[in-house]
Amino acid sequence: MTKVKKADVIVIGAGLSGLHAASLLKRNGKRVVLLEARDRVGGRSLNHQFANGDLVDVGGQWIGPGHDQMYELLKQHQLKTYPLYDGGKNLIYLRQKITEYSGTIPKLNIAQTLQLGWMLWRFDKLVSGINPAAPYEHAQASKWDSMTVQTWINRNSISETARKAFTIVIKAVFTVEPKELSMLHALFYAKSNCSLDYLISVNGGAQQDRIHGGSQGLCLALAKQLSEELELNHPVTLVEHDQDGVTVTCKNGAVYSAAHLISAIPPNRLLRIDFDPIMPSTKDQMWQRMPAGSCIKCVAQYETPFWRDKGLSGQSIGLDDDLLVNVTFDNTEKGKTSGLLMGFIEGDSARYWGQKSDADRKQAVLSVFAKYFGQQALTPIDYVDKDWSSEEWTRGCYAASFGVGGWTEFGRHLATPIGRIHFAGTETASDWYGYFEGALQAAERAVNEVLELIKKRRG
Ligand SMILES: Cc1cc2nc3c(=O)[nH]c(=O)nc-3n(C[C@H](O)[C@H](O)[C@H](O)COP(=O)(O)OP(=O)(O)OC[C@H]3O[C@@H](n4cnc5c(N)ncnc54)[C@H](O)[C@@H]3O)c2cc1C
Repeated sequence: MTKVKKADVIVIGAGLSGLHAASLLKRNGKRVVLLEARDRVGGRSLNHQFANGDLVDVGGQWIGPGHDQMYELLKQHQLKTYPLYDGGKNLIYLRQKITEYSGTIPKLNIAQTLQLGWMLWRFDKLVSGINPAAPYEHAQASKWDSMTVQTWINRNSISETARKAFTIVIKAVFTVEPKELSMLHALFYAKSNCSLDYLISVNGGAQQDRIHGGSQGLCLALAKQLSEELELNHPVTLVEHDQDGVTVTCKNGAVYSAAHLISAIPPNRLLRIDFDPIMPSTKDQMWQRMPAGSCIKCVAQYETPFWRDKGLSGQSIGLDDDLLVNVTFDNTEKGKTSGLLMGFIEGDSARYWGQKSDADRKQAVLSVFAKYFGQQALTPIDYVDKDWSSEEWTRGCYAASFGVGGWTEFGRHLATPIGRIHFAGTETASDWYGYFEGALQAAERAVNEVLELIKKRRG
């Protein structure tokens, strides 16, 4: 007979959210089991080591003002941050021509620049009225949830170039095409993360700071304190639950029981777990409407950040249709000699290039880097890319997005517990949804729910 291991609370998923939840529970004197499918912790936070030993983030990497719990937790674990390199000029590539510019809004002709600026301003004006804890309550919620962001773009732009530039902004922020995205979700997401302006900004925005040694360092530090509680290589396949507690079975046959469960895995992964009794249709149908985005993160390593010598920041935006990488950043770690250029392949392009061979994709990415930064970009000393859609335990990034109709019909069920099952993970956060900070805040909320129930039971 299988031996059932007992705990007070079982946490599924050792990404940042699950690790934080398990740490908080342990600190509160609870017996915890943290079950992780992979042979590593961190989930969407992942370091890659280049041949020369340097580390680079191939998952999430930036934090910015307002990510208070992240800064605090990093401090607690003696992990330091540094600002993203933001010196020099940015580049825009349009009609096979490179132009330098400064600031957030790329330099187009006067009419196009004005129109793009107006679209960004208009979008954020709509964002300001949204309550991220209940976006479906807005008077216009139904209207916005029945249109895609593409529809809004078509209605609010005359210039083809401004339309393209706004589309690239949306793809860079959401990793899906505007045609896939509910306008209400886009407004919610921007409000949850301050504003669209915050999301696309470096100084004072979401791209402000990096973490020395990579963001996974924080997850590894949290895991070190959970060595007794953490079980790697334990994919959860079945959750049985009733009014007394939960019993969880893993793919390897291990069985655990506890009074409560916190799930800290993304919606598409929740759909792959069997629940007995089954989840209410509202929950299951909601997860079905929350696909993860499509993104390949690409990083080339050079002897030095050579673009800086030319007075360039490493930040670029490319509007031409044949570009697979539309935005780039200087990913060089402060204090390191080698220079890193990073670019994202997103949406339809990620789906296309994810099917190509590693060698073809690398060549195609480097040829775009060369268009932006010159022939030197063709000969890196090392290169890595990570297609998150092909990762078994993630299947897309940065986060899940609702398509049309999702928020108004199902959004209120996002974080509600089902009996003894509670939900964490960045996709259940109302503030900082999709970000590390949201993962932490969601963990804290789910842990408080559980602690409150335990307290009540003890009376
Ligand atoms: C390329 C990329 C760029 C990003 N950029 C940023 C950024 O700059 N800044 C930022 O703040 N955020 C960024 N993000 C998002 C950020 O990484 C996520 O918001 C955060 O890591 C989510 O943490 P989580 O714990 O909620 O989920 P996850 O990290 O997805 O953790 C879930 C865990 O559950 C495990 N799991 C799944 N199914 C099971 C199962 N059945 N049984 C057991 N375990 C299971 C997974 O293996 C995983 O470890 C980015 C993400 C990516 C991929």
